[in-house]
Amino acid sequence: MWLTQLAERNRQCFPDRTALVDEHRSVTWAEFDDRTGRLARGLAGLGIRRGDRVAVLSLDRIEVMETYFALGRLGALFVPLNHSLTPAEVTGIARRTGAVAVIGEAALLDRHPDLPVRLRIAVESEEFAALGADGTALPELPDLPDDAPAAILHTSATTGEAKGVTVDHASFRAIALGWLAVARPADDMVLVNCCPLYHGSMVVSLTYMAAGATVVLMPGFKPQTALAAVENHRATHIWLVPQMLRFLLQAKAMESADLSTLREVLYGASPMPVDIYAEAAARLGCGFRQVYGMTEVGGPFVTLGPEEHPAPDAVPDLIPAGRVVPGMSARALDDKGEEAAPGTIGEIVVRGPGVMRGYWDNDAATAEITVDGWIRTGDLGHIDRGGLIHLVDRSKDLIIRAGQNVYPTEIERALRTHPAVHDAAVVGTPDPDYGEVPLAYVVADEGTGTAELLRHVAEQLAPYKRPRRIEFIDQVPRNPAGKILKKLLHS
Ligand code: AMP
Ligand code: MG
Ligand code: MG
Repeated sequence: MWLTQLAERNRQCFPDRTALVDEHRSVTWAEFDDRTGRLARGLAGLGIRRGDRVAVLSLDRIEVMETYFALGRLGALFVPLNHSLTPAEVTGIARRTGAVAVIGEAALLDRHPDLPVRLRIAVESEEFAALGADGTALPELPDLPDDAPAAILHTSATTGEAKGVTVDHASFRAIALGWLAVARPADDMVLVNCCPLYHGSMVVSLTYMAAGATVVLMPGFKPQTALAAVENHRATHIWLVPQMLRFLLQAKAMESADLSTLREVLYGASPMPVDIYAEAAARLGCGFRQVYGMTEVGGPFVTLGPEEHPAPDAVPDLIPAGRVVPGMSARALDDKGEEAAPGTIGEIVVRGPGVMRGYWDNDAATAEITVDGWIRTGDLGHIDRGGLIHLVDRSKDLIIRAGQNVYPTEIERALRTHPAVHDAAVVGTPDPDYGEVPLAYVVADEGTGTAELLRHVAEQLAPYKRPRRIEFIDQVPRNPAGKILKKLLHS
C-alpha cells in the first residue's frame, strides 16, 4: 500500500534525513519506516485486525503519524478525534464507529475513562514503545491494496452534528499525487504543520512526506511556538488557517523573528480575509498558496499557487480558491442542477478518485450529498474560463432577502475594511417583511459606533445587502479550523 511504499522509498533515498519533528524528538526516514513496521506487527499481536477501527486522541505528535502508517499496514482504520470534544461526544463517536481500541496521550485518555473500547494505550507508555520491539516473534504483514478504507474523519460540523467520513487510502493517494504535480513539494523542504492531524488537511502533511520533505508537527497553535519552529528548523513552508496567520501577525515575537527561509505560506480551510492576506504578503514577502478542501472529497482538492496571488498593494475583494488538482474535476451547478456557464454562481460539485467512500454507517446522508456521482460541497461559487474557482459563500449561510441573494461573506468583508473592525460574522435573521435580513456581529475597538459602521458599509454595498442591525461582541466563535460557528450566532 502507498504509505508503506512511501516510507520504504524515502528510507532508501534519504535514510538519515529527518522525516518528522515534534516538540519532544525527531525521527529519520530509516527510523520511521522501521518503527511503523514494528508498530503494525505489535498492534497485530494485540489482536488489531484488518477492518478494525482505532480511535486516536492526541495533540499532533510523531506517534500519531506512526500510528496512522502502522494502521495502514494492518488495514485497520484510523479514527482521529478532535481533542476538544466532550466525553459524551467522544463516546458517541467510539460507539458509532465500533472502535476496538484507543491510542492517545495519557492526559487526554484520562479525560475519557469510560470509552467503550477493549484496549487503551498511552503513546508515552513503555507498553507503546515496546510494541513490536521484538520484531522476530511477530509474523510479517502482507502488502495490502489501496482501495481499502484508511480513516474515518469527522467533519467540523459548523452546521449540524459531526458525521464520520470514510476515506480510502486510494483517495488520499489521488489527492497527494495531484498535489505533487502542482504544488511540487520536494525533499529539500521543511513544512511546519500548524493544523491538527485529525482533520482532512492531514493530506497536506502526507503530500510533503511523500516528497521526502521534513514535516514539523505542532501540539496546538501558539504564535510564538510556530515562529520559533520556523526559525529553528529553517522551515521553507508553513501550513495554517487564516485565523492563525492573523495571530502570527499580531504576535510581538513576529517583529524579531527570522522568517527568511520561508518560501511559501499555505493557508486555507476557511475563507482568507483579504486584509490578513495583504498584511501577511507585505510583511513576509514570500509566496502564498491557498488550500481549498473538504473532508468528503479526501481533503485539499483545489489550490492557488503563489504565481497567481495578488500583490499586497493590489488585493481584490476576493482571492480565487484556485484550480482543481490533476485527477479531480469540479463544476458549478445552477438551480436546475445543470452546469452553470463560466462566471455564473452555482453550487460547486466535485468528482474523481479523491472522494470519500461515503459517510460511516449513514447511507442516507451519503445519498443526500451525492448527485449523479458528484459530491456537493455546499459551497457557492463560480468557475471562470481559466478554470479558477471563486468561492462566494456556503449555501447554508446564504441569506435570501425578499428573494434576493445576500452573501454574508461580502458584508463581512465590507465591515472588515473599517480600520476599527477586527472581525465580523453575518447571519440571516427572520424578518416579517423581507423573510430574512442580515444581522452583523462585530469585534471592534471600544467606542466604535453602529452608525459609523453602517455608514462605512453603505459606501460599499447596495441597500438590500446592508445589515439591519449590528451587535458588538468580544470574539467571533470559530472552530479550530477557523470556520465561523454560525449556528452559535443564530439565536
Ligand atoms: P471540512 O470538510 O469540515 O473541513 O469543511 C470543508 C469546508 O470548508 C468547505 O466546504 C468550505 O466551505 C470551507 N473551506 C475549506 N477551504 C476553504 C478555502 N480555502 N476558502 C474558503 N472556504 C474553505
Ligand atoms: Mg463540511
Ligand atoms: Mg476544512
